[in-house]
This record gives sequence, C-alpha cells and structure tokens, in this order.
Amino acid sequence: MYCSQCGSKVDDNALFCPYCGARLVPRQANPLQVQEEGCIAWSILGFFLPLVGVILYIMWIETRPNTAKSVGKGIMSFVVVMFLLIIIFLVAGINIFNDIANDLMTSHI
Ligand SMILES: [Zn+2]
Repeated sequence: MYCSQCGSKVDDNALFCPYCGARLVPRQANPLQVQEEGCIAWSILGFFLPLVGVILYIMWIETRPNTAKSVGKGIMSFVVVMFLLIIIFLVAGINIFNDIANDLMTSHI
C-alpha cells in the first residue's frame, strides 16, 4: 500500500511509514478474515479517546460485541482514573486553599 501522508510505497503490514513516520491505517483486503475478538489496543483507544470509544462502542455493540467490550473496558478505566484524579485535585485544592487562608490570617493579624 501507499502512505497517505507522503505517498511512499510501504509494506502492507507496516503500522508506521518508514519514510515520514506517519501512522498507517491498513486496508482490510479481506473483511471476512477479520477476527472478531477483544483486543487490548481497543481498550487503550477507549482510555485515551473515550469520546471516540463511546461512538465505536455504540457502533460495534451489535456487530462486534467483543471489540465493543474491549473499548468499553478502556472507557471504564478512563472514568475511574478521571474520578480518582478529580478527587486528588479536590483534596490538593482544599489543602492549597487552606494554606492561602492560613497565610492571609497570619499576615493580616
Ligand atoms: Zn509516509
């Protein structure tokens, strides 16, 4: 196949273009050959691109349930991590606020 970025001829199985480094989207030569199974890559995608993940999940839940579930796991991980981060930031934020309040109290009195 050819790189969509620079047009160089690249190996059909290559994930990245060796000439310009662009990420390559392999063409599905034979769609019937696609194995429908969950894959960690989809979880990673769901984690880093949860909005895309939700769309894919909705698209695939009927036709590719295992892949959809993998995406779903990534989205769930994202939700859990974001939830924890928000808690951490809230706790840190309260501490910073307390520090500022203490500084104001001591400097003004
Ligand atoms: Zn290229």
